[in-house]
Parts: sequence; C-alpha cells; structure tokens
Amino acid sequence: MSILRYMKILLASNNAHKKEEFCRILAPHTIALPAELGLTFDFDEDKETFTENALGKAHALAAIAPAGWAILADDSGLCVDALGGAPGIHTARYGQTEGGALLESGERNQFLLKNLSHLTKRAERSAHFVCALALIIAEHRVYTVCERVDGFIAFEASGSTGFGYDPIFIVEEVGAPMATLPEGEKDKYSHRALASRKMNMIMKEYE
Ligand code: IMP
Repeated sequence: MSILRYMKILLASNNAHKKEEFCRILAPHTIALPAELGLTFDFDEDKETFTENALGKAHALAAIAPAGWAILADDSGLCVDALGGAPGIHTARYGQTEGGALLESGERNQFLLKNLSHLTKRAERSAHFVCALALIIAEHRVYTVCERVDGFIAFEASGSTGFGYDPIFIVEEVGAPMATLPEGEKDKYSHRALASRKMNMIMKEYE
C-alpha cells in the first residue's frame, strides 16, 4: 500500500455544508470542493439508488480532477415511511414553486410538514436519512458505503445548526431534532458520519 497518511480528498459536490461536515469527520485529511480547484462540477443524479448516484458523481469528477487527489462523492437523502420512502433519491429536488422552480431549504421543510400534517402520531412519521459514499483512490481502487440514521419527522421546524432537513428530523437515539444539536454533536449520529467512519476504516489501510 502507498503511504497516504494525509489524503487530499476532492469532494464531488458543491455543497459547503457537506464539506464542513466531512472536514470535521475526516480530519486530518484535506477536503476541497471542485470550485476551490477552479473546476466546474455538475452531475445529473439520474440513477435509481443512492449508491449508484454516488458512484456516478465520483467517476464524473475523477474524469476532470487533477492528479494526486482522491475523489469522495456523497449522495444523501431523506426516506419517509408514510410516503413509501419518498423523497429518497429525489430529496434535493422535493417540492416545486408554482412556476416549477426548486424550493429553498426552509420551504422544502414546510412542504414536507404539510404533506404529513394528517399524521398526528409520532410513530406514523418514521423516517431515515441515508448517506451513500463512493471513494476513488486510484483507477480500479473504488469503495462504496451506505449508511442510515433512523428517526421521525417533527411536527414543526426547530433549531439552527446543520442544514437541509435537520430542523424537522428527530434523531431516534436522541429524541431531538438534528438542528438542535450543537455543532459537531451531529457527527455522533448522522448518516454521513456513520458512513464516513466506515470509509475511514478503509482509508486507514492506506496509511
Ligand atoms: P444530494 O446528496 O446532493 O442529492 O442532496 C441531498 C439532499 O438531502 C440535500 O440537499 C439536503 O436537502 C438533504 N440532506 C442530505 N443530508 C442531509 C443532512 O445531513 N441534513 C439535512 N438534510 C440533508
């Protein structure tokens, strides 16, 4: 194995919140977004599973990335049991304005709360966050991990940490919305942290 004690990891994403979480979870590895290397990265998430989308993103970025960087892609989303697992792989594009534009994050949360407003018992509002990761360390040296964190959709939004659906996702193990946890505390429970810790075990093989 080559010595890659501190990997340079290029994240197949334009999401600064995800970068922030990976920087915390995967420290001391260096994490960068494509834009920070002057790259324009976009990927049409058109696959059927989180893992396929993560792999697609990772390969698309690997094709344009400079040498010396490992590629890490994250495809994540929220699966609500009462909605048959939706929005699932379509989580980032859930709900639209009347004109067909994407909703911003707070509006998307309100849209989901409205869609579940007929479910008045907590047990009926079960859901889980999913995170699929794909890591390309070299050509034909490719790893995937998929993890989940279980919980419930809250009755109203609360908290101000994290991003996306964090204000309305109650972590089952904690009994509180993800966005009410102090910065960093999310990493004890989140789908992204669980998947990253598994990936870290693989990365350690390269140290
Ligand atoms: P994608 O992985 O780029 O397809 O986006 C996934 C979407 O799922 C994000 O835009 C968020 O809305 C949501 N999401 C993924 N992970 C989280 C999380 O940790 N907290 C809250 N929302 C998340």
